[in-house]
Amino acid sequence: MPSSLANNKGKQVIYIDPWYPSTKTCSCCGHVLDELDLGVRRWRCPYCHSVNDRDENTALNIKRVGSSTLGVGDVRQSQTAISV
Ligand SMILES: [Zn+2]
Repeated sequence: MPSSLANNKGKQVIYIDPWYPSTKTCSCCGHVLDELDLGVRRWRCPYCHSVNDRDENTALNIKRVGSSTLGVGDVRQSQTAISV
């Protein structure tokens, strides 16, 4: 069971809303797309124009939601330069 394994390692498992649109939410500005095809690996946010890698963007959003659930607020994110 993943949560007991995490406890043994001194970690904590946070469950987030399974309907949270982690893939379609821009990790830069929070804009949520109406839809995003499964085959799209990268997309440009129509609001802030940042380019989001699908997996990386999703991971950032899940981390952010998990952090706010824990009450530690916004986890500071390093700014990465994106060249496209
Ligand atoms: Zn954006």
